[in-house]
Amino acid sequence: MKDRIIIFDTTLRDGEQSPGASLNNKEKLEIAKQLETLRVDIIEAGFPISSEGDFDAVKTISKKVKKVSVCALARAVKKDIDAAYNAVKYAKKPRIHVFLATSKIHMKYKLKKAEGEILKAAAWGVKYAKRKIKDIEFSPEDASRTDKKFLYQVLEAVIDAGATTVNIPDTVGYATPYEFGSLIKDIKENVPNIDKAVISVHCHNDLGLGVSNSLAAVSGGARQVECTINGLGERAGNASLEEIVMSIATRKDIFKFKTNVKKNQIYKTSRLVSKLTGMLVQPNKAIVGANAFAHEAGIHQDGLLKERRTYEIMRPEDVGFKETKLVLGKHSGRHALRARLKKLGYTLSDKEIERAFTRFKKLADKKKEVFDEDLATIVEDEIGTASEIYKLISFYILSGNKVTPSATVTLKHEGKTLVANSTGDGPVDACYKAVEKITGEKPRLLSYNLNAVTAGKDALGEVAVRMKIGKEEMNGRGASTDVVEASLKAYLDALNRLKSLN
Ligand SMILES: [Zn+2]
Repeated sequence: MKDRIIIFDTTLRDGEQSPGASLNNKEKLEIAKQLETLRVDIIEAGFPISSEGDFDAVKTISKKVKKVSVCALARAVKKDIDAAYNAVKYAKKPRIHVFLATSKIHMKYKLKKAEGEILKAAAWGVKYAKRKIKDIEFSPEDASRTDKKFLYQVLEAVIDAGATTVNIPDTVGYATPYEFGSLIKDIKENVPNIDKAVISVHCHNDLGLGVSNSLAAVSGGARQVECTINGLGERAGNASLEEIVMSIATRKDIFKFKTNVKKNQIYKTSRLVSKLTGMLVQPNKAIVGANAFAHEAGIHQDGLLKERRTYEIMRPEDVGFKETKLVLGKHSGRHALRARLKKLGYTLSDKEIERAFTRFKKLADKKKEVFDEDLATIVEDEIGTASEIYKLISFYILSGNKVTPSATVTLKHEGKTLVANSTGDGPVDACYKAVEKITGEKPRLLSYNLNAVTAGKDALGEVAVRMKIGKEEMNGRGASTDVVEASLKAYLDALNRLKSLN
């Protein structure tokens, strides 16, 4: 244990709180299962008291996830802890995470309580939770802005009450690395019973220092890091899991620790979270961005292999990314495709391989070089989609700067072929209106994003949409070398997902 950093993933709790990233329970479970495959140590699945949906999500994840701990968040009050317990009790390794703010500004303005009351409430909350579950974490919210002496007192009291992990959050992303690392050291030196608990940190990225602060804390003595996939989270987000894990792995000489994370699942997990939350990953994002290893561009493959280590501190394939820029072409066979997909972390059935292969061949005809990003997009597009309640057969558009754009769309639904045409503000709008005519559904389009998956004029375009029908919101994605087709696919993907909820 001494030489390992515990990875606590809060993508489904703190990450899901980022504006526009809300997930339904089916999507949360899909991410939780992938986090289990990724082998994080703890999945913080939600805040059960906050809503019925959150409660159900934590409950479902607790029942379905077996290999890693599942954690539920609660304030230091009875109803919160009861809800957390009732949702997480099904887990093989349940944890309750109790939190209470301890900084002067939070105590005075938010809680309107004095230090003595806070101290009592914190210890009471931990004690109450401990009666139900052994594994208890406590967070003094806004710890980095809390008076140090008071922070030591709170930590001592909650450890006495039974907390096995004490988490030090930089809730507002205010700390700087040296300062935060020193705070952890000071805690180790000044809290008499600190040996009985694991010190954890939870850093936000408001100044872009979330990962740096977390790593400084590790050097200061923290042994658990709370983080999210793609750095998802409120405001500027949380410390990013992939950056923390890869920093620890790449700089073994500095950190001398390991994590349990299966690094070759990182890219796949990042893609899944991005797809389901509808939050696209910026191309220059460290570790998982499309350009994260793009210094390879333009270099001949042979020379690249020889020179690699001179300018590459990590191997892209270590995180399940592309091995090289140029992978498969139109002469590549099924076997090569299967092997390549396996390297990317996708294990598919024969039937799925067949579908992916057909798509791949079509793409290879249109596009000289098929990159790993293209393959990942194809697989997610083909395999990851919800059951195709409405399937795109064909579309035809008329568009230009002097005509009213119009579209004819043909869909298959329950064995029947349905056709409609419509005009619109543009070709995509015309297509969407034609689909509305066929399906009779008039979803509200909340967002529409178009992203080129790879470089070049023949790049695969990926469209991400978020739509709403009634109370339900859903993301959808579609990819094609034709942006109108990608737009239609994304729209149908979201619609099919919404339809399959009922
Ligand atoms: Zn947070």
